[in-house]
Amino acid sequence: MSAVTQDRVLAALRQVKDPDRGQDIVSLGMVSDVQVREGHVGFAIEVDRERGPKLEPLRKAAERVVERLEGVLSVTAVLTAEAKPGRGGASPVHGPAPRGGGDAGKALVPGVTTIVAVASGKGGVGKSTIAVNLALAFAANGLRVGLLDADIYGPSMPRMMGIAGKPTSRDGRQLEPMRNYGIKCMSMGFLVPEETPMIWRGPMVMSAIQQMLRDVEWGGLDILVVDLPPGTGDAQLTMAQQVPLSGAVIVSTPQDIALLDARKGLNMFRKVDVPVLGIVENMSYFLCPHCGERSEIFSHGGARREAEKLGTDFLGEVPLDIAIRETSDGGKPIVVADPASAHAQLFRAMAEHLWAKLSGSPRRAAPRVVIQ
Ligand code: ADP
Repeated sequence: MSAVTQDRVLAALRQVKDPDRGQDIVSLGMVSDVQVREGHVGFAIEVDRERGPKLEPLRKAAERVVERLEGVLSVTAVLTAEAKPGRGGASPVHGPAPRGGGDAGKALVPGVTTIVAVASGKGGVGKSTIAVNLALAFAANGLRVGLLDADIYGPSMPRMMGIAGKPTSRDGRQLEPMRNYGIKCMSMGFLVPEETPMIWRGPMVMSAIQQMLRDVEWGGLDILVVDLPPGTGDAQLTMAQQVPLSGAVIVSTPQDIALLDARKGLNMFRKVDVPVLGIVENMSYFLCPHCGERSEIFSHGGARREAEKLGTDFLGEVPLDIAIRETSDGGKPIVVADPASAHAQLFRAMAEHLWAKLSGSPRRAAPRVVIQ
């Protein structure tokens, strides 16, 4: 079988013509960022912002010609707009109007009433662990839940949710979300293997996220939990501006440095008018698996004090416990692995509190029984 190379991808893309200009998209210099990793291909097609919305068929056609190449396992093409000089970097061309621009944003994910982002100032603080357990806790509280892994630099949801395989499409247009433990889930990790992270430019990140929102058949959901990429850079800011977020949860460890980063996250959401629902302190204290003794190795309580100082809610403290690590890394997070545990109860209480904040009134549905 011949190897998939950039040259073969570009040669295939020469069959695709820009409908307005008559020439192929490679000769016109519209193709950039061709990435090939073990049969998984990604590339960007740069177009004028104005033409973006009507060039979706071009994007699909480009994906199709590359998909036909021998050895290609998956293809992700994104449309990006090169910004005019003086207007900042390139930006995605499709998706909703920025927040505050009326209802356009809300149409982005039909049938999804509430979208909540889980963010952190930096990586490794347990943001994905909190996101997945919160999503499962919303479901355990009786809500219809989706989980979008927007951490496309290091997608971890396939592993944490214990889901393998690739999403399929019934109509050839929209992808069916993957499912496990009663929630729907989508992640770049289903399309690109976890161990082969792609190097994504800011605008590509945004387009990929928008496609995971728009081209996935989420169906009716009460809440969609979005695990954001770590940090407070451009990608996160664009995301906060362009996805109709109902609110954001910030995850932080107690160390001061992590808190400083959390503060940056908080300010970022405030700047773009996304309500910060509160801060979760993760790895708050160490719970010894042998004797149950609690040790405060990272000067626990920092997030609570910080939340108070910043005038935001403190949502709770999650201990550093091997059971939390083993269950989420093992593909069955603690909320479903041990629903009666104190940790699971903590996540459910947090989810209930968040839902009350989001919906304006407490809602306690009957616990759902999930049969695997
Ligand atoms: P992030 O999304 O912030 O990069 P992850 O959620 O991937 O972080 O967590 C990083 C690692 O720490 C994972 O192995 C995870 O299982 C572990 N972890 C996260 N929170 C806890 C916790 N409260 N107790 C024990 N291990 C944890």
